[in-house]
Amino acid sequence: MENCIFCKIVAGEIPSPRLYEDDKMIVIRDIEPKAKLHYLCIPKTHFALLSEMNDVRAEIVKHCFQVIPTLEKQLGLEEGYRVIINQGENGGQTVHHLHIHLLGGEKLADF
Ligand code: 5GP
Ligand code: ZN
Repeated sequence: MENCIFCKIVAGEIPSPRLYEDDKMIVIRDIEPKAKLHYLCIPKTHFALLSEMNDVRAEIVKHCFQVIPTLEKQLGLEEGYRVIINQGENGGQTVHHLHIHLLGGEKLADF
């Protein structure tokens, strides 16, 4: 997808160190961390919203959720963390390429 910052990161056009990578996803640090530790799990294929789900995309999202728990120790999230997927305008989504926020490294405020 042209002009998608996360597609450019996935393609390596914008450098961003990968803490994890496989054929379906990458994990990077968020550039503006909202917690002591703040990671983004980004599927390699572009789609913006959960409402655009199909079987192929569901497999990718499932894969992300299977991998994330295996990375907890490596990412310093073993004490717990918060998983967020912002959706659309009201959800505060600013990058329209579906991604999973992982926030932790400290006790997070209730919300
Ligand atoms: P959203 O608001 O769409 O759920 O989250 C987008 C996130 O991407 C934000 O937390 C923002 O800080 C992060 N972000 C935006 N541009 C970049 C970038 O170029 N590199 C990295 N690592 N994170 C980015
Ligand atoms: Zn994209």
